[in-house]
Amino acid sequence: MADALHRAIARGEFHLVYQPQFDLETREIMGIEALLRWNSREFGVVPPAEFIPVAEDEPELIQAIGRWVLRTACQESARMQAELGCRLGLAVNLSPAQFAQPDLPELVRSALEDSGLEPNMLELEITEGVFVMEAELTIQTLNTIRAMGVAVSIDDFGTGYSSLSYLTRFTVDWIKIDQSFVHDLPHGRNASVVTTAIISIAHGLGMMVIAEGIETREQHDYLLARGCDLGQGYWFSKPLPMAELVPWIAAGARIAQDA
Ligand code: C2E
Ligand code: MG
Ligand code: MG
Repeated sequence: MADALHRAIARGEFHLVYQPQFDLETREIMGIEALLRWNSREFGVVPPAEFIPVAEDEPELIQAIGRWVLRTACQESARMQAELGCRLGLAVNLSPAQFAQPDLPELVRSALEDSGLEPNMLELEITEGVFVMEAELTIQTLNTIRAMGVAVSIDDFGTGYSSLSYLTRFTVDWIKIDQSFVHDLPHGRNASVVTTAIISIAHGLGMMVIAEGIETREQHDYLLARGCDLGQGYWFSKPLPMAELVPWIAAGARIAQDA
């Protein structure tokens, strides 16, 4: 599979889909998250949960794939903004190995410059794994990226190995509540306590909160009542190719369940 991944970019086997992110209160679309898809000649459609870990075994491979994702997502997003005349945030997932590249800020800068996307439209999603790496480098990279106007969020929050202490040492803009917690809302007692606590910690530290994996109206209502800012999930919309997303947004991006 690693060999096939090495050939995938040149063969044009990757494409991106985008999942909309909504303001829970106004139901307005605020941004999109780019998610990588691979249709392999040898393996067929492989989910990212299977091939990303394989690519992550080779720093150069995940970095090459990550570069393609970042550049392609910025270009497609800038084109969408021009076509729709709207400003929507773009979130891109980064592997810890990408975050460790000394030239990451340069890669981000050139992806923005070449696409024309404004820095404050871009958000990079990192996981807690980044915080167990060398602290000095991590702080420096975070500061450089944020100084450019690019936002940083912690994906899958609460599922990694890190301690809460990193929240006091590293500055990020967003926390994403992991879908495993959202899944058990609103009735799961442990999930509801943890979710409420995450929102409170994030807001107390001046960060915004987005919940992922919202599948029901009850989950939406619960999160809204506790002050969660944004949400994404199948209840709002599945990840869509640009060709479907653009007409859907142009038509008002109405949530089917509310029609
Ligand atoms: P993630 O970044 O946490 O993305 C959320 C995943 O949840 C996506 O799966 C999305 O399709 C799925 N999802 C969205 N709404 C719902 C829902 O309501 N219910 C459920 N059960 N699932 C929902 P996907 O696209 O298969 O991606 C899985 C993971 O692969 C991502 O998790 C991310 O960690 C990784 N990944 C995807 N694209 C990239 C990429 O370009 N670069 C890197 N480094 N990782 C990526
Ligand atoms: Mg993500
Ligand atoms: Mg996640």
